[in-house]
Amino acid sequence: TSFGFKEVREEDKSQLVGNVFTNVASNYDLMNDLMSGGLHRLWKERLVSKLNPFPGMKHLDVAGGTGDVAFRILETVNSVKRRAIQDPSNDNLHEETEIYVCDINPNMLNVGKKRAVERGLGETKSLIWAEGDAEALDFPDNSMDGYTIAFGIRNVTHIEKALVEAHRVLKRGGRFLCLELSHVDVPLLKQVYDYYSFSIIPAVGELVAGDRESYQYLVESIRRFPPQVLNLPLLMFLLTSHYNIIHPVQIQIPDSIG
Ligand code: SAM
Repeated sequence: TSFGFKEVREEDKSQLVGNVFTNVASNYDLMNDLMSGGLHRLWKERLVSKLNPFPGMKHLDVAGGTGDVAFRILETVNSVKRRAIQDPSNDNLHEETEIYVCDINPNMLNVGKKRAVERGLGETKSLIWAEGDAEALDFPDNSMDGYTIAFGIRNVTHIEKALVEAHRVLKRGGRFLCLELSHVDVPLLKQVYDYYSFSIIPAVGELVAGDRESYQYLVESIRRFPPQVLNLPLLMFLLTSHYNIIHPVQIQIPDSIG
């Protein structure tokens, strides 16, 4: 059965997305490992290393779900802190780090809160769980040093509204990082990926989580997300067209020489 996502009207999308994540919340972390073969861990590590978090930072992780990205940010902050503690000139070490995990779905956040307790982070003041919509954030202007959204933006109904909100809450010079799945264009790999995502993922969803349709949605939502801008064929096209533009100019020979 197909989820029929393509026929879903804009106004119904948030309802549909809400149902999907309510259904998948309890198996979410296991399924992430199964579906990506553990790769999502490396992608998230990369995201956090690009973010370069620091002690005392105010950070907002939107569509933060079960807290995976926020836990990694906090771990990095703590290890930076441990290394820097010897240097007394570091004033910001005493400032409280605040990492907000914002998600529209309370079920995902509840799983996250339980995971925080399991990790011994239940009491930390640095992790703040907040139910909220990426399109209308409940945070003041210019209040965040960082904003991340991992595997979240394709689920948002109006991406442009989420981007305007990200820009509003970020301080000048604050960092915006978005991690998202997109299209595979490399010929042979594309076939393998199509088979994997259309046949295997929904089947694993049914087997492990007893829910084929939610996983069908997740796969379809990746297809609907805009492709990468600079993929290889496009890059080659741009380079060639640029070459075509400058070529006639370069070969012009003045009449007097000809
Ligand atoms: N960032 C987490 C991770 O990487 O593991 C969770 C990603 S999960 C695929 C997508 C999350 O986006 C879900 O938890 C869902 O509830 C949330 N979401 C969907 N629409 C949202 C919106 N408009 N505002 C905030 N969160 C939203």
